[in-house]
Amino acid sequence: MAYCIGECKKYKALKPSEMGRYAAGQKRCNYCEVFLEYSGISCPCCKRQLRCLPRSRKGKEKYLSQVVQKREIIV
Ligand SMILES: [Zn+2]
Ligand SMILES: [Zn+2]
Repeated sequence: MAYCIGECKKYKALKPSEMGRYAAGQKRCNYCEVFLEYSGISCPCCKRQLRCLPRSRKGKEKYLSQVVQKREIIV
């Protein structure tokens, strides 16, 4: 069985100052209770699936508006 081995600490993401964590591309491992800067879909530590979208509707709306803003800055 998978468990937290501390590997997630290497990918631990810092809190973004201008936008939400998900909008900044960070992913959440609910098992390790940490936000990661990691490109894969599962946690490098416990191998559980990472959450890349906010759970609440309000959180999703905020996320989408921030993602759009981010794209506009890049383009
Ligand atoms: Zn972990
Ligand atoms: Zn994990």
